[in-house]
Order: sequence, then C-alpha cells, then structure tokens
Amino acid sequence: MRMRYTAFTALMASAALVLAACGGDDDAGEQDADVEASEFEEGTTMAQLAEAGEITIGTKFDQPLFGLQAPSGEPVGFDVEIAKIIASELGIGSDGIEWRETTSANREEFLKGGQVDMVVATYTINDERKQEVDFAGPYYNAGQSILVLEENDEISGPEDLAGKDVCTVEGSTPAQNMRDNYPEANLDLTDTYSNCLEPLRQGQVDALTTDNVILSGFIDQNPDEFKLVGEPFTEEPYGVGVPKGDDEFRSFINDVLEESFDDGRWLEAWENTAGEVLETPETPEVDRY
Ligand code: GLU
Repeated sequence: MRMRYTAFTALMASAALVLAACGGDDDAGEQDADVEASEFEEGTTMAQLAEAGEITIGTKFDQPLFGLQAPSGEPVGFDVEIAKIIASELGIGSDGIEWRETTSANREEFLKGGQVDMVVATYTINDERKQEVDFAGPYYNAGQSILVLEENDEISGPEDLAGKDVCTVEGSTPAQNMRDNYPEANLDLTDTYSNCLEPLRQGQVDALTTDNVILSGFIDQNPDEFKLVGEPFTEEPYGVGVPKGDDEFRSFINDVLEESFDDGRWLEAWENTAGEVLETPETPEVDRY
C-alpha cells in the first residue's frame, strides 16, 4: 500500500479533488483507505487484517434495512455500512471485504471457526453469547416485536400468542424469549426470517416474531400486507461479534464506533439505510465490559 501511495500520490490527490468537486463518494468503505498496517501493534488482528488488505465479514442477506443481498450480490443496509466503517479504519475499502451470509444460529460457530473475522448481523449482545464470543458496541438498540397480517385483529401483544402458530428463527434471542416466557405459543422455527413471510401470508402461521426493525424492513418491502402490533417487549442491543478473548480488536472496534457516533459517519450510515424508514435513534452507550 505504501509503494502504491508513493508512486501515485499526485494522481490520487487530483482524483480526490475531482471526486470532491463532484459531490464525493458517499461510500463509507472508501473513507480511510490511507490507513497503514504499521499503525497497529504487530501481531494484533488489526495489523494482520490491515496487512492483508482483506477482511471477511458475516452479515444477514435477507433482512431489508440492515443486511439484504442486492442484485449485485453485495449486501446493503445499516449493518453493512457499520461494517464498512470498521473496515475502512483498517485501510480496507469495499473491494477488500468478503461478505459471508451468517444466520442467527451459526454466528458463534463462524467466529469460533475463523470463517469470519467479525459479525455485524442484528446480533444481540447477551451474557450467554459472551461465553462463546465477544462483542463491541452496541451500535443500535432494537426490541422484540410481532408481525401479523394487516387484517389480523386478534393479536396485539405477546400474551395473545398462546395457542397460536408463531414463526421465528432457530438460534435467535426472540426464539429463546418465546420458549422462556411464552411457552404456550406453538413455535415454528426456521433458518432465516424471510422464510416466515410466505407461511404468514398463507395463514399457515399467525405471527412472525423478532426484532422490531427487522419486521419494519419486511413491512417496507411488502406494502399493505403486514403490520407490527404492540410495543417492543425486550431489549436487543446490537453488537459487533468478534472471536472470544480478542480484547484488542474489540477495543479497537469500540473506538471506531465511538468516533463514528461523534463525527457523523454513524448518522450518515443510518440515514442512507434504515433511516429511510425508521426514526433516527440516539447514539447508544458503548459497553466496554
Ligand atoms: N437480535 C436478535 C438476535 O441476535 C434477533 C435477530 C437475529 O436473529 O439476528 O438473536
């Protein structure tokens, strides 16, 4: 990277001016491409990733607003933009990111097995998961909610799910919450939330439950079909999953998140994605446990 920069400094500078004059490139992934691997302490994950110029990131591929695979094959959404901000602080632009689909059930496994370097995937921070992985963040606070057909007037909160068929995803906190606190609901478990939409349309299930913002994405994608009912009934702080024990990497990501809260990049990422549909939240408090 150093060589390339030395050789093309003048060219890059003029290209940057042209880009700036044209209103710029709003891709967060390109912002900090001049980070050098040598800025990071040798042997750290940051140094290794910056040196390689590549990072593999786990995200969702079927969740509008947060992580949805676009026709190009690349995912788009708020999680994706947060991940790009972190990668850019390692000197890695969009070209150096390999996106890997993670489902709710395989995130810990993928982090432990090294299939991904980090996970940004509507991933709730909780103590049970902290036994297996670590989390930077949170960078957003969601809450569990319920999606039903627009004409449904029987279900208005989780208590109404007793005896009803409720679709949700294996390995998710909403599935665990249903088992623990609403055992009278009949759970219909699948791999990804989008698998629940057709059964809901067809009346094979009565409701889909997961985080409010994921459900809002489905409402936005399928106008006049579905509605959210009741108030969110859990707290789901979204964190960036990293391999357990990599405290330097976790702390680096926490620094990046806090900077992005302060310098407007987090807000820009929000406004270009989930913020097109959802209200802008307050920036959360990073938890450096
Ligand atoms: N935030 C919840 C979780 O991490 C639900 C969304 C998801 O499954 O990704 O389990």
